[in-house]
Amino acid sequence: MPTMNSVGKCFFCNAEFAKAEITKHLNAHLAKEISNPNRGLSFHIRIEDDPHYVGLYFLNLWVDGNALMNDIDDFLRAIWLECCGHMSSFSNQKRKKVLTMLDEEELITNDDEIMESKTKDILVKGMKLKYEYDFGSTTTLLLTVSEQIQAEVPGGIILLSRNEPLEIMCEVCKSEPAAVLCTTCYEPNTFCKKCAKKHAKTCEDFAEYSAMPVVNSPRMGVCAYEGGTIDKKRDGIFVKK
Ligand SMILES: [Zn+2]
Ligand SMILES: [Zn+2]
Ligand SMILES: [Zn+2]
Ligand SMILES: [Zn+2]
Repeated sequence: MPTMNSVGKCFFCNAEFAKAEITKHLNAHLAKEISNPNRGLSFHIRIEDDPHYVGLYFLNLWVDGNALMNDIDDFLRAIWLECCGHMSSFSNQKRKKVLTMLDEEELITNDDEIMESKTKDILVKGMKLKYEYDFGSTTTLLLTVSEQIQAEVPGGIILLSRNEPLEIMCEVCKSEPAAVLCTTCYEPNTFCKKCAKKHAKTCEDFAEYSAMPVVNSPRMGVCAYEGGTIDKKRDGIFVKK
């Protein structure tokens, strides 16, 4: 993909920030929560796709300490990942709190324990976790615990920010945002609606099975992924301003 901007809006003030700036900005808002502490404990977690993949997708979540790791898994599936109920895992190579994939059987046993744990029993400020969804066509995410806040989170998890749809353009006409991908072609493989109709006439696979919608997720075009079930208004295609 060409160089693209990645920006997200702030949950608190609705201003737009670059991917590299938004986490710090959100922490400033959250610091105000700390100045009014209650008995709760929560975490600001930054989630990014693998920088070796696209490296532009991000989520900033505010997660209550009593929420389960399983609840984060559910949230990630709902917003970015779920296609056909694949397995997933959290792992942390540095602290070895969670096993990596040395032994599949061991991983599954251990992973169940992790998934059922409260976030406050697993997470600490500064911790980095690797998350994988689907051990076949794997989508790998990186989680960083950016801040620990002495306040509870109503509802368990709040989406503080998310990258707006990336500027993925049609590779044929280069003037319209892409709406459809062809997962069997190389270049061009992103098409606006009009150019997609033409591609269907020359690409048999496209007409039959390889057309996939452009969605705002690092799992776009992978397996049978067709988009999330929450925050759908930001899951669409790029809109020119
Ligand atoms: Zn703000
Ligand atoms: Zn799948
Ligand atoms: Zn086009
Ligand atoms: Zn094709």
